[in-house]
Amino acid sequence: MSDNIFLKIINKEIPADILYEDKISIAFNDVNPQAPTHILVIPKKEIKKLSTTDLSDQDLLGHLLLVVKKITDKYQIKDYRVVINNGSEAGQTVFHLHLHILAGRIFNWPPG
Ligand code: AMP
Repeated sequence: MSDNIFLKIINKEIPADILYEDKISIAFNDVNPQAPTHILVIPKKEIKKLSTTDLSDQDLLGHLLLVVKKITDKYQIKDYRVVINNGSEAGQTVFHLHLHILAGRIFNWPPG
């Protein structure tokens, strides 16, 4: 069995509301949405957090941002916020790299 919840989603060991998938990444609705639209984009490669990536992940990191664009284009989401929480003090609770796409309400700045 895989040892993190997102790997379980990647391996289809637990269900998720999957919106997009390719060889490198998968995107699904957040189970505890913080906005009317709250989608997570994750790499299939096991990466704990952004700060553990290196130059060899350059294409992968670019790919994830282009997946954000693909999804927001497909669902005609015009204004949105993309968030990566890196480390527990920044709010990271699942230690598998993920990009949050948040949309459908007004967002404050600075974030809480
Ligand atoms: P973070 O706090 O940045 O690590 O974000 C983790 C996100 O994963 C949270 O927004 C959770 O609601 C979400 N999450 C945790 N488990 C699941 C799951 N099984 N399916 C979908 N989203 C999940």
